[in-house]
Amino acid sequence: MSTQLHADPAATAFAAKHHRMLIGGDWVDSHSGKTFDTYNPATGEVLASIPAGDSEDIDRAVKTARAAFENPTWANMHPATRGKLLHKLGDLILEHADELATLDTLDNGKPFAVARAADIPLAADLFHYMAGWATKLNGSTISLSVPYMPDAQFHAYTLREPIGVVGQIIPWNFPLLMAAWKLGPALTTGCTVVLKPAEQTPLSALRLGELILEAGFPEGVVNIITGLGEEAGAPLAAHDDVDKIAFTGSTEVGKLIVQAAAGNLKKVSLELGGKSPNLLFADADMATAVPGAASAIFFNQGQVCCAGSRLYVENSVYDDVLQGLSDAAKSIKVGNGLDPSTDMGPLTSQEQLDRVTNYLSIGESEGARNITGGKRWGSQGYFVEPTVLADTTEDMRVVKEEIFGPVLSVSPFKDVDELTAKANKSNFGLASGVWTKDLSKAHRAAKAIKAGTVWVNCFNVFDAALPFGGYKQSGWGREMGGEVLENYLQTKAVTTQI
Ligand code: ADP
Repeated sequence: MSTQLHADPAATAFAAKHHRMLIGGDWVDSHSGKTFDTYNPATGEVLASIPAGDSEDIDRAVKTARAAFENPTWANMHPATRGKLLHKLGDLILEHADELATLDTLDNGKPFAVARAADIPLAADLFHYMAGWATKLNGSTISLSVPYMPDAQFHAYTLREPIGVVGQIIPWNFPLLMAAWKLGPALTTGCTVVLKPAEQTPLSALRLGELILEAGFPEGVVNIITGLGEEAGAPLAAHDDVDKIAFTGSTEVGKLIVQAAAGNLKKVSLELGGKSPNLLFADADMATAVPGAASAIFFNQGQVCCAGSRLYVENSVYDDVLQGLSDAAKSIKVGNGLDPSTDMGPLTSQEQLDRVTNYLSIGESEGARNITGGKRWGSQGYFVEPTVLADTTEDMRVVKEEIFGPVLSVSPFKDVDELTAKANKSNFGLASGVWTKDLSKAHRAAKAIKAGTVWVNCFNVFDAALPFGGYKQSGWGREMGGEVLENYLQTKAVTTQI
């Protein structure tokens, strides 16, 4: 492994400090004093010691968020002022982009260059985009025709009001960006938040907490409790004074969130797993489609909920595409994300390494043909080779289940009907890709695929303005765009007889 590692000094200093959680304007240890360690996935060495929050810390944070929600400083803040705070936060993220990108590389393993080019600017964009919505959360006026009051006249309108105290639980694959996706709309609408970052990757969220205070958000509007899923996430999802829970993570935990939320019927939005089909037609521009299909699965080490993990290739180009994918996978430089020449970093945790290598064994035992990769990479850190499995069939676990790693299954198709049936044969419905030069074919496929996102001749294109979320067991509700605001607003109808 190259030793040319470039770590932003502000990030290494931040990683090394004594970490505390944010409740109100105070940085506090967990009330139990317990901590847990995080690891640098490129080396497997301990990176930081993080407070292990539990139900008592969650309770304190929820009370603080409730008080902040009712405090006129936030409740009556002019929408334009809220917008300015959001804008300022977006600016601060860009000012500290190197530091935040490095924190995500240290915690998650992703290449610094990728975090710096994608995660961090997208997080800033989200706040900048949401800032514009703060002044546009309008209700409507409604004309009434009440049948049993034929002579009465009314003035009726709707108000769009914040839902209240929101719990937000986020995963480790895009640590800062997931925090931004969640916090942006909640703050735009005037909610207050208790955020629980993933235990594997809490550093950039904690640094974001400092920037949130620096931007001028009132104390208590954002509270950040670090901790394990069962110890800190579960009590947040179950808390009786939380009005809404927003979760991004596995479908399995998503179902637990729904159960936990039932106690007080809090609103729930979920962004869950996927097994996204990627459809490659023989008439595609191969120069973009083949590297596109490779990047659809290998980006972020395959730890992407919408990764294009099932590739269906039209018969006549199947062998050529497999050769192209193999070449693309072999050209990926695996290494420490702090090395500027690295294309693919390690998986984020030992647990992920075990999970993905287990799926590699499953693929082998199921008879998938290994085209390239298929093993752990190196002996230190949590690296896995970019892997292509060919001739996979719909009954294989490697085709049905979300691997969440750089493992692509590829199979051929003859005609569009067969293709659509295969593509839709999944409990998930998060995203999909279509590669063809034929516009009609592309749009027919886009209509036929049961997924919340269809990318045509591209993949993993994200924008703060584009709604993102799942059909079927991939989730409830949408992230981003104007649509995400629905998750955080409730409508009040006001009727006056005049
Ligand atoms: P993964 O399996 O990929 O690690 P998870 O869905 O387990 O993803 O984790 C996503 C987030 O959910 C993390 O912040 C984690 O701490 C949290 N979490 C895990 N289990 C629970 C639970 N039972 N209740 C609430 N949150 C949880």
